[in-house]
Amino acid sequence: MKITGCETHAVTVNYEGMMSGTHVVLRLRTDQGIEGISYVSRVGPRNIRAMALVMEAMVESLNGLDPSNTEENFRKLIGPSLGAPVSGLELRAASAIDVACWDLKGKAVGQPVYKLMGGFRDRLPISANWALMPGPPKDKLQAHLENLLARGFRAVKAPCGFATIPAAVDHVKFIRSVVGPEVKIIVDLNFQHGVKDALRFARETEEVDLYWIEDPVAFHDYEGMAEVRAGARQPITCGEVYQFQHEFKWLLEKRCSDNVMIDQDLGLTGFLKVAHMAQAYGCPVINHLAPEALSHPIAAVPNGLIVGLVPWGQPLFTEPMKVEDGNLVMSAAPGLGLTLDEDVLVKCAVN
Ligand SMILES: [Mg+2]
Repeated sequence: MKITGCETHAVTVNYEGMMSGTHVVLRLRTDQGIEGISYVSRVGPRNIRAMALVMEAMVESLNGLDPSNTEENFRKLIGPSLGAPVSGLELRAASAIDVACWDLKGKAVGQPVYKLMGGFRDRLPISANWALMPGPPKDKLQAHLENLLARGFRAVKAPCGFATIPAAVDHVKFIRSVVGPEVKIIVDLNFQHGVKDALRFARETEEVDLYWIEDPVAFHDYEGMAEVRAGARQPITCGEVYQFQHEFKWLLEKRCSDNVMIDQDLGLTGFLKVAHMAQAYGCPVINHLAPEALSHPIAAVPNGLIVGLVPWGQPLFTEPMKVEDGNLVMSAAPGLGLTLDEDVLVKCAVN
């Protein structure tokens, strides 16, 4: 199998009227007629075309190579920059190509990616990570939470970093009162606090029994994270913005975080390396965005904790992720198990 080129689509989609996102979708083409799929999010509207162009140029440099050689291909894309600064755009384009290569690798041998990566399990806990910010009227929030429970979710995540601490504490207490004692509640503080305020939040929410407190202080303040971790009774989760293995190494060595959150920027190849490194420190791993791809390495490793479902990419695909009794049921289909919705790609195209 050889890479022969690609097609990119810039698309803005909306999930259930609650969350919209603009994504650059990559279709990596091969001489076998099968294609690898991935997408990149969080690209500024003015940079969409640039992202697509970088992806296309990078794929051109892989033409004729076997997509199954994921280490070789990823090294070829960012290798010249290893040890020196690499632009974020290049890194994120390379990571999307890596994801599409893994999709092809699975399709070529008729196996789901998570099985190729280790296949630890085929059902894993999943959390609903949308529309749970403080702000909307409480009856609206309650209706959303009840809907999530009815759909089988048993874990929810609320971003509270931009509320005052009293408002954030009140918000999570209200969520607990609606979902009952069994449902896991995750709170993201979005890097917004100093150590003392983060510890105050942790103290005042002890009775709520949070599953974890995420990003309590600035992402570069490793010492601050370690202080919060040492002082809080609830687990701490950090890592979502890091793009290099050494940043996770520092996080683990300095004992900053109980769990490690990894995004797609290292590709699936890098995600897996960080997950194995975290295992050596006894730390579970979680994805940040791109659950359709990143659920695979989480299902593959023994220290995969839970998949966070940020659903803004879901409308790109014909099949929604399947949730049963609080668990994501991994697809048995080859590769990432994703089928693009061709109508959506046309109807929701960004020009
Ligand atoms: Mg976060």
